Amino acid sequence: MRIVAGVDIGNSTTEVCIAEFEQDRLVRFLASAAVMTTGTKGTTANVHGILAALKRAMGQIGRDISDIAMVRLNEAAPVIGDTAMETLTETIITDSSMIGHNPSTPAGAGQAVGELLSFEHLQKGTADRPYIVYASAAHTYEEVAAAVNRSAKIIQINGMILQADEAVLVENRLEKKIPIIDEVLRIDKIPEGKLAAIEVALPGQYIHMLSNPYGIATLLGLDAEETRMVTPIAKSLIGNRSAVVIKTPNGDIRENVLPAGEIYLDAEHPERIQLDEGAERIMQAVMNAGEIHDVAGEENTNIGNMLRRIKKGMQEVSCDAGSEIRITDILAVDTLAPVLISGALAGETCLEKAVGIAAMVRTQQLPMEAIAEELRNRMHTEVKIAGVEAVMAALGALTTPGTTLPLAMLDMGGGSTDAAVIDETQRVRRVHQAGAGELVSMLIQTELGLTSRTIAEQIKKYPLAKVESLFHMRMENGEMHFVEESLDPRLYGRVVLLTEAGLVRIEQDIPMERIREVRREAKRKVFVMNAVRALTSVAPGHDLKKISNVVLVGGSALDFEIPEMLTEEFANYRIVCGRGNIRGKEGPRNAVATGLVLSYIMDAQRT
Ligand code: ADP
Ligand code: MG
Repeated sequence: MRIVAGVDIGNSTTEVCIAEFEQDRLVRFLASAAVMTTGTKGTTANVHGILAALKRAMGQIGRDISDIAMVRLNEAAPVIGDTAMETLTETIITDSSMIGHNPSTPAGAGQAVGELLSFEHLQKGTADRPYIVYASAAHTYEEVAAAVNRSAKIIQINGMILQADEAVLVENRLEKKIPIIDEVLRIDKIPEGKLAAIEVALPGQYIHMLSNPYGIATLLGLDAEETRMVTPIAKSLIGNRSAVVIKTPNGDIRENVLPAGEIYLDAEHPERIQLDEGAERIMQAVMNAGEIHDVAGEENTNIGNMLRRIKKGMQEVSCDAGSEIRITDILAVDTLAPVLISGALAGETCLEKAVGIAAMVRTQQLPMEAIAEELRNRMHTEVKIAGVEAVMAALGALTTPGTTLPLAMLDMGGGSTDAAVIDETQRVRRVHQAGAGELVSMLIQTELGLTSRTIAEQIKKYPLAKVESLFHMRMENGEMHFVEESLDPRLYGRVVLLTEAGLVRIEQDIPMERIREVRREAKRKVFVMNAVRALTSVAPGHDLKKISNVVLVGGSALDFEIPEMLTEEFANYRIVCGRGNIRGKEGPRNAVATGLVLSYIMDAQRT
């Protein structure tokens, strides 16, 4: 009786599989486990995680790791994925000319135009013109409401701007109802005496005058040239529930196109692409390039620095310092990032154009032998580097019920999407492509303007719901869900994630529909694109129609919607495609580790 362990070290996850052999015959699989990879894949720092995973798996069957007769390590593909984001435009306001933001509770509805008058100067107002009054947080809502009620008998007050979050409290006390915008942080920057227009949308609606250049022109009496100048303002106010635009003679808002740099593809068909030409153009070039030897970016630009940083990281892990580090694939996707507008009054953001990039870095070989040696010393057991990752993954994928050769396998991990096709003679063609789960998380984080990657990662993994009362939620699919015990009041009115560990509240105030749209779009941009690209590349004659079965494996195949997106996409090519179920029980996990264990039989037969 021999216990053999397969160990798969991935970018993100280290997976192990344990099985029992009797005279080179597989008796049964005993256990499996997964832990987060410790350190960069392919370095001896991985040993810590490997031992933890082996202990966990052996613990499940009440055994110790000293009972393991042989450890089989994968010849980890010497590729590492990395991601970065590059903003292509920036919006700048000189001489404050607008406030457009989404305070959660503005008051009143409609539009108003008037000269800006500070609360302190209410008495200076004259009856010959309309005003918009603004008040700092130094004044209480009672004080503000009382004074405005008094002044409104003498002068015409059309609207208000408040620093404090008190629009509703003030409005409740006003005799004449007017639109009020609150939560304007930089109230001290408001230029008194200038003409301003404010707009508050009806509940459930968006503003429509100030998000339209001609609307602003109508309210502020602009000529054609001035109207052209305010177009970026109108653009950045689209989708707001309230806004202020101030007419300042020198006020200017511009959209700058940032110098983004050039990408050089050193390939069969070399090409240079300007980053700001957009993702579609970049990917077209990547696909027409044939085999890519290396990718570089223009010196002293963000893209140049980013690609250099990625290569440097790889240099540190690869065996000999002189070894060649190359970028063999990139995936570019267009995205939008909410960026603070410089010069804005209320911390407004504008959705700027950006490009997300994932890169696949390759070195000649990873120092796997060093890991094996370290394991031998720690475990006093036989350790063998046993097989090529993609081949092992395909062997493992084949244990999914209902599969047969020839088979295509798509391993969707954190840093890369790998594809392999294995035919009846067990010949394998494989490819490693840049862009997988981490790029999806990055896109979600930037597009929603989230401060942490962790919450983006959670948004990627879990469905959403809106807590509409303490006893019911509206699921993102529209279904109403009633609960028996009252929900935590802190969740009331909030968007939550339905995780295994219960409801997790999303701190940012972003509509559920928007989060869902961004999440699905990010997954589609990365995985549908990459799946088609990868399978075309390994298909016989690069013809997708020559593939009939695709098994999805890897961490991102656990996703609750990515496999369905791909099943739908590939149905168009009459390809059977679905989430793998390794050994009929592991789901899409453990393919490589299982393959490594199975390869023990072939090895044993050979000797
Ligand atoms: P690797 O083989 O590179 O170590 P994995 O196969 O472990 O990578 O995949 C890691 C990726 O899978 C990460 O991007 C992670 O966010 C993603 N992932 C893990 N679990 C889930 C899940 N339940 N839903 C969606 N994505 C997931
Ligand atoms: Mg993997």
